[in-house]
Amino acid sequence: MKLLFVVMDGLGDRPISEFGGQTPLEYAKTPNMDKLASLGMNGLLHVIAPGVTPGSDTAHLALFGVDPYEYYTGRGPFEAAGIGLVVKEGDIAFRTNFATINPEGVITDRRAGRIREGTDQLAKLFEGLEIDGIEILLEAGTEHRAALILRGDGLSDQVSENDPHVERKEPLEFKPLDESPEAEKTARVLTSFVMKARTILNNAEINKKRVEEDLLPANYLLIRGAGKVPKLPNFEEEYCLETACIAGGGLYKGIGRMLGMHIIEDSRMSGGTTTDLSAKFEITHNALNDYDFVFTHVKGTDNYSHDGKYKEKSEFIERVDKELYRFLPENYEGDLVIMITGDHSTPCSFKDHSADPVPILIYSPDCRRDKVEKFGESYAVDGSLGHILGKHIMGIALNEMRLVRKFGA
Ligand SMILES: [Zn+2]
Repeated sequence: MKLLFVVMDGLGDRPISEFGGQTPLEYAKTPNMDKLASLGMNGLLHVIAPGVTPGSDTAHLALFGVDPYEYYTGRGPFEAAGIGLVVKEGDIAFRTNFATINPEGVITDRRAGRIREGTDQLAKLFEGLEIDGIEILLEAGTEHRAALILRGDGLSDQVSENDPHVERKEPLEFKPLDESPEAEKTARVLTSFVMKARTILNNAEINKKRVEEDLLPANYLLIRGAGKVPKLPNFEEEYCLETACIAGGGLYKGIGRMLGMHIIEDSRMSGGTTTDLSAKFEITHNALNDYDFVFTHVKGTDNYSHDGKYKEKSEFIERVDKELYRFLPENYEGDLVIMITGDHSTPCSFKDHSADPVPILIYSPDCRRDKVEKFGESYAVDGSLGHILGKHIMGIALNEMRLVRKFGA
């Protein structure tokens, strides 16, 4: 028995008056998910706990049964792992932007004109750099994004950022956030690194060329989101499942990688509304041949929600639904457990995450059925799963897979 887990980011929503009081999911025509809902078990999922509004990072930890209150130390480590840096327990990881600073020391663009090319070469200029015995690892991501790791003894993640978050301001100073010598040392290393980086980047050929071409140089690094790399449970050891992670966004790949999942990379799967859904679910279908458990993440639902675009969110859900035909019992060869949900609600009226629970459906060929016929927030409340927490769902899925882990004799 295999397990497919589809997470639509920010799926949950609230009634939209233009939709006659239905949510974007309820308004969408989703015959495939409705079929799975009618054959399966339904419920409402409080991903972390009732009343707690998750971030996408803490939400995904909870969905995989990893307690975010115990393991979460910040977003930096996951972004770094998602970009491809091999993070080690104890490393201090940061989210980083290539930015533009003018000779007066004022940030003129926090994203260096959304630089698209050349950041790989810029990051290479830092290879082998050490400051005060601390190894510095910089890796470029997509566009202006990068990840930074400080590796060595006596470091702390209790350090402030230098990103002013607005333009035409000077970068902030790194400050220790507690009294420890580790925090003080980390702030000192960062300060000296950023000064060095400014010189290295200003002298880089790519930036000289960009200036000649009237493009903004990527001559500064804005650093934020410090997190000490935690030791996460290994997902494959924990559940004895060979696991694949299929996602476009770096954060999700990073969480998968740090949990020991195999990351399937394909350039057609960007993280957002322009991802090639057909390719993503074809890859998912193929991965189910090789892996026991396939986690597939789609981000578009959340992106539209943050913009308040409920029509586009609803249409995007319809597009996802179309791709799920492959996994319906009549089309899929083999036994498959299917779990579909979101990582949190992002109501279009909030344009931000909320603590509202998300609908979840779990289907297996011989699961108990309930009377729910459609996949949606207001239907799910009548389902047999009732109200469950994120930490429960892996256990429920394993039970459907007959991988019973008995508690007691
Ligand atoms: Zn999310």
